[in-house]
Amino acid sequence: MLYRKVGDTGIDVSALGFGTMRFKGAENAAEIIARGLQLGMNYFDIGTAYSFNTSDDNAEAWTGAALRGVPRERLVLSAKAQCRGEGEPKVERGLGIATRDQMWQCLENSLKRVGVDWFDFYQLWDMSAPAHFAATCEGADTPLQALREAKEQGLIKHLGFTTHAKSAETVEWLRRVPDFRTVTIYYNFADLACEEVIDYAQANGIGVNIMGPLRGGLLVGESAAFARHLPELAGVPVQEIALRFLLSYPGVSSVLSGMNEIAHLEQNAAVAADEQTMTSAQRHAFLAAFTELTGGEPLCTGCKYCQGVCPEGLPVFWMMGLFQLHEVFHLASASQQLAGLHGKARADAGKCTACQTCVEACPQDLPIPERMKRMKQAVEELHAAAEE
Ligand code: SF4
Ligand code: SF4
Repeated sequence: MLYRKVGDTGIDVSALGFGTMRFKGAENAAEIIARGLQLGMNYFDIGTAYSFNTSDDNAEAWTGAALRGVPRERLVLSAKAQCRGEGEPKVERGLGIATRDQMWQCLENSLKRVGVDWFDFYQLWDMSAPAHFAATCEGADTPLQALREAKEQGLIKHLGFTTHAKSAETVEWLRRVPDFRTVTIYYNFADLACEEVIDYAQANGIGVNIMGPLRGGLLVGESAAFARHLPELAGVPVQEIALRFLLSYPGVSSVLSGMNEIAHLEQNAAVAADEQTMTSAQRHAFLAAFTELTGGEPLCTGCKYCQGVCPEGLPVFWMMGLFQLHEVFHLASASQQLAGLHGKARADAGKCTACQTCVEACPQDLPIPERMKRMKQAVEELHAAAEE
């Protein structure tokens, strides 16, 4: 296992980190964590709400139980709670935390469940819009106030946040709250826009963890397109290419994977132990191949500038991302998901009126209405083929 610095915190984390949201139960967590520790993993991304059944029966408690007896200094633990200023507070679950006192209660619960005296990191979970930042970090009586107090008392070593926000917003929050020494973002080879955040973080001594390395499980299987354009990657599963791509980007501290099978864990750990995950020449060729694959058309970078702008309520960012995995990368997992969209009004490409609103918002000048037309046709064809 290779280890990387988390910015300038002085903490080293395993290049492959544990996402703890997919454990099937206490036994599964114990088995997977034991093997991960054997393979050298030390970074655990814990969330109070993960698999929450009761206060004593949840992924946080299972993780704590699996780590009992492991020397504390061998572990790097990052906990988190959702503090977006929305919804009814559910302190036991770490959801809707809105005030200093609720945050303190939540933190104390987490320390107790995991069975430790301090966390290396504590992250504000899914701070993904300016309103979330304002509710969490601005003014008096905020969750951030409690976390700063806890840091002074040594219960937390460093603060951070996880986010799905636009890159410019994420950078702005890192700039405005210098206490944030780590950030967890959504990044994969099909969503490249957040590299701006990684570059900023690296230049400012802030660690970066990656979530969603397989774009919600879509970047899997074989891609004939890659094999054709990058013969040296022929036969390498897309999930491995995806992991190699992320680990080769300078400034990435750890890639989180929510694993609940030993075989999956071992495959990922083998990649994270490879000094040469992807050479810069391979990475360059990989990115250059995208242009060939699209025939010169721009790629959706997942920047989200089109989010919420469609008068028809279409989730343009999500649809463009999915469609290009099918059309450009020829991923069977994406084609299958596209076929499943048939008859679903929520993402019906046929609703596009070509009004151009999203095109005006798109920095890549993507021909979105044109792609919506192709997407509609693809959904119909894939659905018909699946019915045969
Ligand atoms: S062009 Fe189509 S997808 Fe874009 S905003 Fe208009 S209706 Fe929505
Ligand atoms: S369609 Fe354009 S604006 Fe929307 S996420 Fe993709 S690149 Fe960004």
